Amino acid sequence: MASIFSKIIAGEIPSYKVAEDEHHFAFLDINPIAKGHVLVVPKHETDYLFDLDDALLSSLTVFSKRVAKAIEKSVPCQRIGVAVVGLEVPHAHIHLIPINGVYDVDFNRPKLALPAEEMQEIAATIAENL
Ligand code: AMP
Repeated sequence: MASIFSKIIAGEIPSYKVAEDEHHFAFLDINPIAKGHVLVVPKHETDYLFDLDDALLSSLTVFSKRVAKAIEKSVPCQRIGVAVVGLEVPHAHIHLIPINGVYDVDFNRPKLALPAEEMQEIAATIAENL
């Protein structure tokens, strides 16, 4: 069965998309721990990030860099933190999180509940800054 992220990539489930190319896709995390929290995924469905072949892992990292630079321009922050967890969704993904301190990458913090309009605006701003 297709993962929830494959359904997002296929447009079967809505998302706040920020970037896409032939092999990669980026969208806002629906339960963000910071404004501008983005997930970057390979279109090819593989559960575990480190099971990706070298070429795709490399290109995903380069794509993440491009998205991270756009988030930096869009959300006030010191830098973009990077996290890989993957315990919830079995489709490899990289979390890009605007941070001002190490506390900002604490996944145990309460998730932000942002209105849809604000999520849309954040996604659009990041997309414009790519
Ligand atoms: P993990 O697999 O532990 O890295 O966590 C999966 C992440 O995906 C969590 O931060 C969720 O909030 C996020 N997530 C789950 N479903 C969706 C969705 N439909 N759209 C955007 N983000 C999602």
